[in-house]
Amino acid sequence: MEDLFSVLTGRVEQAFNEHTSAGAILHRAVYEPLDGLLMSTGQEIRCSKGCDACCHRMVICTRVEALAVMEYLQGINKWDDQLREAVHLHASTLQDYLEPGENKPDTWIERWVACPFLKEGECLVYPMRPVSCRSYHSLDEPELCKVPIRKVAQVKEINQAEELFSMMATMVGERIDPVFAAKGLFTLILDELSADITATGEVV
Ligand code: SF4
Repeated sequence: MEDLFSVLTGRVEQAFNEHTSAGAILHRAVYEPLDGLLMSTGQEIRCSKGCDACCHRMVICTRVEALAVMEYLQGINKWDDQLREAVHLHASTLQDYLEPGENKPDTWIERWVACPFLKEGECLVYPMRPVSCRSYHSLDEPELCKVPIRKVAQVKEINQAEELFSMMATMVGERIDPVFAAKGLFTLILDELSADITATGEVV
């Protein structure tokens, strides 16, 4: 794991030398090596188009990853009022679910509320999806992902390295601005960023 740590920190340096946008930096430093590791094991991942239980779970990411998603959507002219409203609705529903503040088990998936970027079984932000979405996979029957506590076989190298990749995303956020290193729920962060833009006309 130490070797991977050195490789990844080297990639963070390289990424900041070569790119300026959050998305391009994350791609170079974090997403490409994560995708590469997942593919390199040669194991048969059972996830496929239309199998989207993971997109009905809570997604936790760093603020910089959410920022990169928003920039990506702006770049493809999809960050419109309709999508912003869908993100806001998802964030509000999630907030209501979390409101009581009890230590209840995570049963969010049972409500079957889709991520606002899930469109006809496909992820609208697939190239820029955060670490938690990229690392989520199953070597078992996808149906088994539809329960709150799923028990499926996974690629052990990814399980071992997910935290490290997430740490790298935090490192990227920290270097852009410490505020972007914070972690939280994906749509809640996006909803906040969206409100900030609406108020100031700027992303940051
Ligand atoms: S960002 Fe994409 S992969 Fe992640 S939960 Fe949303 S639709 Fe699914």
